[in-house]
Formats: sequence, C-alpha cells, structure tokens
Amino acid sequence: MDAGSRWDAICVGAGITSLAFGAQVVKRHPGARILVIDKHGVPGGYATVFRRPKAGAAFDCSLHKLSGMGEGGNLRRIFANLGLDGELGLKVPADYFEACLPGGSIRFGNGVDAFRQALQDRFPHERAGLDRFFDEVAVHGRNGYHQFQMMDGTFEPDFAQLRYAHKHLKHVTLAQALAERINDPWLREILAATGIYVGGFAEDLGYLYFLHVVYATLTQGNAYVEGASQRLSDVLARRIVAAGGQVLLGTAVRKIIGDDAGKVRGVTTAKGDFYADRVYLNAAPHYALRTLFDDQPALGPVWRKLDNLKPSRSTTTVYLTTDAAPADLGLSSTETMVFACGADASRAARAGCASDEACERAYWRDSVMEVTNYHALDPDGGRIVCLNVLDAMAHWPERRSPAYKLKKARALNVLLERLYAAKPGLRGHVVYTEVSTPRTYERFTNNTDGAGYGAMVGTDLSGHVFHHAFPIAGVHFLSAWVAGPSYEAAFGYAEMKAKQWAA
Ligand SMILES: Cc1cc2nc3c(=O)[nH]c(=O)nc-3n(C[C@H](O)[C@H](O)[C@H](O)COP(=O)(O)OP(=O)(O)OC[C@H]3O[C@@H](n4cnc5c(N)ncnc54)[C@H](O)[C@@H]3O)c2cc1C
Repeated sequence: MDAGSRWDAICVGAGITSLAFGAQVVKRHPGARILVIDKHGVPGGYATVFRRPKAGAAFDCSLHKLSGMGEGGNLRRIFANLGLDGELGLKVPADYFEACLPGGSIRFGNGVDAFRQALQDRFPHERAGLDRFFDEVAVHGRNGYHQFQMMDGTFEPDFAQLRYAHKHLKHVTLAQALAERINDPWLREILAATGIYVGGFAEDLGYLYFLHVVYATLTQGNAYVEGASQRLSDVLARRIVAAGGQVLLGTAVRKIIGDDAGKVRGVTTAKGDFYADRVYLNAAPHYALRTLFDDQPALGPVWRKLDNLKPSRSTTTVYLTTDAAPADLGLSSTETMVFACGADASRAARAGCASDEACERAYWRDSVMEVTNYHALDPDGGRIVCLNVLDAMAHWPERRSPAYKLKKARALNVLLERLYAAKPGLRGHVVYTEVSTPRTYERFTNNTDGAGYGAMVGTDLSGHVFHHAFPIAGVHFLSAWVAGPSYEAAFGYAEMKAKQWAA
C-alpha cells in the first residue's frame, strides 16, 4: 500500500456536511489527513453552482438563506471558530419574503418581530393563534435549535418545557397544529410556506421540528454568501487540502472495504483503493447500503430501521435569467412566495394525486411556489431568478424519454405563468430558462427519490436512528439524512462529529 492511499478518514461525497466536517476536524487536529471523494466534478453536492457562460449566469443549486447567522446563531459561531468571516462576504437581506396572494401581496421584513407584526396587522382576528404560535417558536423552537449542544452538555434546557413539548407538540404535524391554532386557511398556508426550506408540506413536517426551523431562520437571523454556495464549498475544500488532505473529484466510490472482524478498511474507486479506519458516508443511506456494501445480511437490522426513514420531498426548479434587473421588472424582494390556494385546498390537491395530471396540478399549480431573486442577493452571479416547487419523483417518467421532455416543458410553462401572474412586469423579459426535476436531483446526488433535503422530519422519528449501533465499526453517516436539512444543520452536526474525532 503506498502512502498516498492511506488516510486518517475518508468521506464518501463532498456535500456540505463532509466539507464542514473536514474543515472542523483539521482546525481542531491540524495533523489530520482527510480524503473527500465525490463523483461530481465540483465540491459541494447541492452546495454548488452550475455556470452557463452564454447566459451570463452562475446558478446556485440550493442556497438562498443560511440560517443561524445573527447574533448568538450557531452557524455564525461556527463560521467565527473557523475564521470564515474574513473570507466570506455575507449579505443580510432586508426582507424575509413577499407573500403573493390572489388578492394582493404582503411584504415581511427580515426578523421574527417584523414577521409577527405584519401577520397580526393583516390577520387581526387570528391574534390569539398567532401569539400562541410565536410563543412556541420562542420556547420550543429555541430548545430544538440547541439539540446538538444539549447532547454535548453545553446547553442546559428547561426540562419542564421538554416534557411539555414531548407530550403535546412532538406527535402532531404542522398541519394539525396550525389547524388547532389558526382558522384562516390563507394564514395557515403562509405560516407553513417555509416548510419548503426543509423539503416538506404542512402535512409532512413535525410541528416541533418546524418551530425550530422558524427559530433558526428568523429569530437567529439569516444571510446569503456572496459568490454563492460554491464559494463556501470551495473555501472549506481548500482548508482540507491545505492541511494535507485531498478532495478527489470525478470519482465515484464503488464499494466500502470491510474486514472479517467487522471493521471498515477503506473504499474502492475506479482510481484505485483508498484506506482508512474511519469512513464517513455523505451519500444517501438507502443508496449507500444498497450499492456500496457487500455484506447485506449483516445490514438487516439497519434496513429495518431505514424502512421508516422517509425521504424529504424533491424539487422542480426553473432557473432563469432576465434581460434587465428583476427589481426593475417588479420583482424587488429577495424571496417571493406565490400562493394559489389556502391550506385546506392545497392539501386536498396533494392528497388527491391519483394521476399524473392531478400531481402536476397539486405540486406545480396549487402548492406554494418559492421565487428567489438571486440578482438582489448577489448581482455578480447574473440577472438570475429561480422558481422552486416541492415535487415527487413518482409522476416523473425516465429521463430522456419523450414523455419526460414533454413533462419538463409543461412544468416550465406552468411555473413561468405563475410567475407572470404574480409579477406581470417580468413577461417578455425572461431570456434563458432551464428546468431541474426530481430525476435531475437524483442523478447528480444519488439521493433517494431525488430528495433535496435528506430525511423528512415528520412525527415518526424511529427511522432517524438507523445508524445507531451500525454493524461495521468505523462507518459513520454524515449528511442531511442524519443532520437534518440545511447548511446550519450540516455544520452543527459536523461540529459534533469533529468533537468526537479524538474519542
Ligand atoms: C432546491 C434546494 C434549495 C435549498 N435551499 C437551502 C437554503 O437556502 N438554505 C439551507 O440551509 N439549505 C437549503 N437546502 C438544503 C441543503 O442544500 C441540503 O440540506 C444540503 O446541501 C445537503 O448536503 P449533504 O451534505 O447532505 O450532501 P449532498 O448535497 O446531498 O451531497 C451528497 C454528495 O455525495 C456524492 N455522492 C453520492 N454518491 C457517491 C458515490 N458513490 N461516490 C462519490 N460521491 C458520491 C454526490 O455527488 C453529492 O455531491 C436546499 C436544498 C435544495 C434541494
């Protein structure tokens, strides 16, 4: 075995959780040599950009808001520990989002008080329910936000609050909780809209978890990285390399190598075998277990738990550029949520997805569409706007088939028409478009069902412990599938794993 093939740890996948982990390990243990391997040609997984030079565009595949970037935010603290503040330009948007409703729009300032006040002004008859919701964000959202610190003893929770949350909040979905607190279906749809940040509709997400998402994003502040998510990924990758590690791209890991004693020994790739006593799997667990491990019988108990790990929703995205600044065409907010129906109608549409047509209606027309104005966040990336809807793989035909191409064209048309209906000034000014579907996401990341946000965090969390007591010693999981969706969760989980490095 030559020295170049022996490492202190190998990460399978260069998604943001791997990169955040590697950078934090080498900060704590400067001699650690980490090999990160990815099948893709650039590091970052979803935290990448793809460039279309003729369109003058660098499209961000995922990031539009880093949560936890305010005073006291976890991500801000981790960035400071890593000394990233000086290396990254951060943009704090003035707005949270603009809600476009059939009868007009509401603009929300960026902060929990501004959001709460604007909702109270618009829905004064829902004051009691809104107070209850925001009080729960402040108490239970805060506790959930500090989950990793709770585990390592650096955050002391109020146990009475935890007991209350366990009994009354943990086992209800966001849809159930909002229905109990709020009558107005439009207000419920607005409150649940940011479920799109974590890949779930109101009927999918656990209420307790959602409170933490609102706390992380709004109370703890948010920001965007200038240079897009790729800048962040590149900075982290450079840290790993500078410490003697390597980020090996364009190389798929084919197998995990184990020994007869039940310990991991390394990985096999087309470029040769690489050895380490710790292997961190950034790739989706269903995919990894099915394709990377030979000893399937040993994995039986893991599979039984994994059966309960539901993937988050996938996404259909329209990437577009305009021939003038979007703000000059009427799209001034950094983020806009376009609503078609109140909560009951949109949920009923999703529940009735019996045909392709019904799915298209439910996901593309009747559910919320999120519009990110990247030009307002970082004009250097180009005059870019992205349209996102949560979607499901099940109604998408195989890639490259005629039916797939037709469906992509329909998706483009439906989402663009929704944009024009909300912001008529954009019509006639969209000069470049490209569509990503759940199949695109699956192809680029190997994520189950094209899930963009790891596992769904619903009310049944039994599948989330699939990796506990993993039968092959030295194998770890390190991704949104165990950390939870979002960059902040990735960095928080990576920090916890980096602290365990010496153990
Ligand atoms: C449309 C969208 C918008 C989002 N917006 C935000 C946002 O604004 N803010 C936020 O905080 N979060 C956002 N998220 C969530 C966030 O992007 C993800 O939670 C996060 O990027 C997931 O990172 P990960 O580490 O789990 O790895 P992934 O990004 O899933 O990457 C996994 C990597 O593993 C590699 N891989 C798989 N199999 C192999 C193999 N056999 N060999 C080698 N490599 C392999 C893949 O190529 C990939 O690079 C968004 C997600 C989506 C989809």
